[in-house]
Amino acid sequence: MKTTIRRAILICGLILSTFTVASPQLPTQEPMGGQEFGHSVKHLGNGLYVFRWWVYRNIFIVTDDGVIVTDPLNPKAAKLLQSAIRKLTDKPVKYVVYSHNHHDHISGGNIFKAEGAKFIGHINLVKQLGDHPSPVIPMPDITFQDNYTLKLGGRSLELSYLGPNHGDSLVTMRLPEEKALFVVDIVTPRRVAFRGMPDFWPDEWIRSLKEVEKMDIKYVISGHGPQSQPAIDPASVVTEQRIYLEDLMAAVKQAIDSGIHSPDALKEKIKLPKYKNWRYYDKWLPMNIERIWAFYHMGW
Ligand SMILES: [Zn+2]
Repeated sequence: MKTTIRRAILICGLILSTFTVASPQLPTQEPMGGQEFGHSVKHLGNGLYVFRWWVYRNIFIVTDDGVIVTDPLNPKAAKLLQSAIRKLTDKPVKYVVYSHNHHDHISGGNIFKAEGAKFIGHINLVKQLGDHPSPVIPMPDITFQDNYTLKLGGRSLELSYLGPNHGDSLVTMRLPEEKALFVVDIVTPRRVAFRGMPDFWPDEWIRSLKEVEKMDIKYVISGHGPQSQPAIDPASVVTEQRIYLEDLMAAVKQAIDSGIHSPDALKEKIKLPKYKNWRYYDKWLPMNIERIWAFYHMGW
């Protein structure tokens, strides 16, 4: 009976999503609610929630047997997340899944550790967090090399490591029932790449996005986005992200080949008007260009 109801909710959710995808005004669903620098929670159906704190997001899944949490973000956000979960269920958080090694996404998990949660992450996290430990980042209890399927209360979360791309421990998280992918940092819809692309390897990033494009997904939930952005997007944003990077790299390569070698001159000369409506186009495009210059100039 419970399964039938859950399926019905899921199907309703997907019909609504499909309907809104077709809408010319909204890319997908309504934006996240809440105050811009505050936090908000959006239920996508079937116990799947998106939690936003400032421009950071994670997902959590409420099941009959407990809760799966992803990136706790930071101690302040984790506390808000924990009280949001407590309003929805009295079941404990059983698992916390880390997306990658960067501290701005995975700090603050101690409060979930205190309620007995097990932490899951890619095997490379052990060395990275060993080299750069933090008192507010519990070490993973469960690690894996390529793939790991987490199961709880009839729900599955499929974790995949795609090789180096942004750091060398990033995993994507697929919800097979919804055909949705939670992905952090390597897909941020309708925004140019983050500043000087810290810890991003441009060619590996493109390769990884091609891997994501092969996955059986219809939707993407991104680890970043202000409250004005939808909680969930169509999977086509992955291709848009890859094409942006390919356009950026091609433009920088072409300018270098034409004889421009100074990064300052490249930043002056190169424009990508196709993306002028993407967030941070004016401010961050020049920083993106300098990063790609370093890629070609230094092989880095
Ligand atoms: Zn990161």
